[in-house]
Amino acid sequence: MAEYEYGKLLDRAWENLPEKLKDHSRFEIPKVDSFVEGNQTIVRNFNEISSMLGRTPRHIQVYLSKELAALVIVEAKRLIINRVLRQDMINKRINEYAKEYVICHECGRPDTKFTELGGGKIIKCEACGGWRPLRKIK
Ligand SMILES: [Zn+2]
Repeated sequence: MAEYEYGKLLDRAWENLPEKLKDHSRFEIPKVDSFVEGNQTIVRNFNEISSMLGRTPRHIQVYLSKELAALVIVEAKRLIINRVLRQDMINKRINEYAKEYVICHECGRPDTKFTELGGGKIIKCEACGGWRPLRKIK
């Protein structure tokens, strides 16, 4: 399916949702609390971010490492990035992560989980039943 058509389908799915469901779909993407120390950026609340997103620290860590093109490690519930980064730059990546790996593209809720379907990995929404293939972190 062309991306354009897919987008239109999603719009239609959204329009057809009862207003009630839309109201409850607001989800706050957590903001990082970070500081720079030498050549590194440390995210103090990484554990909290991971639990708010409902994803393992490991998955987010791998994602950030690729997206930020830097060595990233988790140490004592903090995330240590081997690069000097402004807080908003990390927030932007967390937002992108949430959009791809947490929020349902059909109903906009964060009630999704990773599962399998026919041998392939998918992200499935427990609120509306929608799903899509899980994009691999390249
Ligand atoms: Zn959904």
